[in-house]
Amino acid sequence: MPLLFQYDRSGEISAMNGEFLRKCLNDILDATGLTDADGCPLDFDPHDFRRIFITDAIRSGLPPHIAQVIAGHSDINTTMGYNAIYPAEAIEAHRAFIARRRALRPSEEYRTPTSEEWDAFLGHFERRKLSVGICARAFGTSCIHEHACIRCSMLRPDPAQRARLTEIRDNLLARLTEAEREGWLGEIEGLEISLAGAQEKLALLDAEQARTRRTVDLGMPSFANLAGRTSTADQP
Ligand code: SF4
Repeated sequence: MPLLFQYDRSGEISAMNGEFLRKCLNDILDATGLTDADGCPLDFDPHDFRRIFITDAIRSGLPPHIAQVIAGHSDINTTMGYNAIYPAEAIEAHRAFIARRRALRPSEEYRTPTSEEWDAFLGHFERRKLSVGICARAFGTSCIHEHACIRCSMLRPDPAQRARLTEIRDNLLARLTEAEREGWLGEIEGLEISLAGAQEKLALLDAEQARTRRTVDLGMPSFANLAGRTSTADQP
């Protein structure tokens, strides 16, 4: 199950409910003996992890609007409500972040682009579209392999074009066999380089597909440490 907190209920994987988690957290807090400033026992809630994460991230310089996206909030005020530090600190952290970013780039880049520059920028993305994927070369750079894309490390293959890539690979294999049979030695090296490129692109697609399919096993939590304080009968 894609859940962080789950347990094995007689062989069936089940989600732990919020009430149970709350109880576990507070049992652990009781065991530590920690208290708040007034000497009262600490009271914890699973939701506090979100607050702690967002507070810590913003205090460490993460811009609030990025924290908002990570937390999945549609309104930045919700994020800032989670953030348990003063807004002034968040603003200072954000300003420091912008200052660091600007220090890394020449000041002349901070101006409104001309229409020609903007068109050139948009055109760059259009011109990168290839039959078997996308050319990943940077804006303002020219083609490094005279458009021999299949051999080029800049080609990011498109999974939807796998059949086309397979066809290219098979065609290269056939041409290689023909060149070897006919003794066209001048062709063989070039064909072998192209074939290696096609095979590499197919392997890239396979690796990407395997990565997408992979699930992460978080393991099952053990209740051994909670024995005596929280029984499994408390679970949902
Ligand atoms: S050869 Fe490389 S750099 Fe040139 S267009 Fe193809 S992928 Fe881009």
